[in-house]
Amino acid sequence: MTREVVEVTGIVFKRQRYKEADVLAKIISKDMGIFTMLVRGALRPKSKLSASVLAFSYGNYQVLTSQKGLSPLKTFKDVKQFSNLYSDLTLNSYACYLCDLVDHAFVEYQSLGKFYNLILVALTKLNAGQDPEIICQLVELQMLAAYGVRPQFKQCAICGEINGPFDYSISAGGVICQKHFNEVARMHLNDKQVAMIRTLGLVNINRLGQINVKPDTKKAIRGAIDRIYFQTVDLNLKTKKFLDEMRRLEI
Ligand SMILES: [Zn+2]
Repeated sequence: MTREVVEVTGIVFKRQRYKEADVLAKIISKDMGIFTMLVRGALRPKSKLSASVLAFSYGNYQVLTSQKGLSPLKTFKDVKQFSNLYSDLTLNSYACYLCDLVDHAFVEYQSLGKFYNLILVALTKLNAGQDPEIICQLVELQMLAAYGVRPQFKQCAICGEINGPFDYSISAGGVICQKHFNEVARMHLNDKQVAMIRTLGLVNINRLGQINVKPDTKKAIRGAIDRIYFQTVDLNLKTKKFLDEMRRLEI
C-alpha cells in the first residue's frame, strides 16, 4: 500500500521509548482508529514534536501512513492536554484503563465508529472532575457491545417486558423481569442498582450530568460489571488490576 500524509484527530494514550531517541505514541483517532505513531527524535532536547505526544494530549496529528504498522508523525496542530489525567494518579489510572479497554476491542487502524466519541467524552468528563467511577462504569457497560456482547438493558431479555422490577442475568444476556426470577441465574441486585445499570448502559454520554450515587450502590454495580466482564469477555488487563488496587487503597 502506498504511503500518504493523513491528518487525524485523536488522543495519545500511551508512550514508550523506542531506539535511541525516538518515541512510540499510541493514539486513539477518530479518522483511522487506534495506531502507533513513530515520533523520531522525540527524546532529543530540541524536539518540536515531543510535547505533542505526552500522554493524554489531544488534537490534530499529521502522519505519513500506509495504514499498517508504525506511522511516522510529521507535524501537529491545536494540541492540548487533559492535564488532570496526566498529573492525578487516580484519574490517570482510570483513564489508562478505559483507553486500554477500547484498545483491546479493536485491531489496528480499525474504525471505532461511535466508540471514539464515547472515549473522548469520557476522558473530557474525567478531566473535568466528574465522578470517575460513574464514568468508568458507563464506559464499561457500553463497551460490551464493542466486544460483541450486547446486553439487553431496555427490556426483559427473555420476554420483552418493559416494566420492572428487574434483575440482571448474565446467562439471559441482560435485565430480566420478575416472571423469570426463579428460572435463570441472576445477580440479586436491588431496584436501585438495576436502574443504575440500565441508565448507564443506555444513556448518551454527552447527556450524562453530575449524578449522586451512594458508595454502596457504586460498589455493588462495580461487582456486577466485573462479573459480567469475567463471564463474557474475560480480559486480563494490567491497567484494570492497577485501578482495582488503587480503589482498594482508597477505601
Ligand atoms: Zn420477562
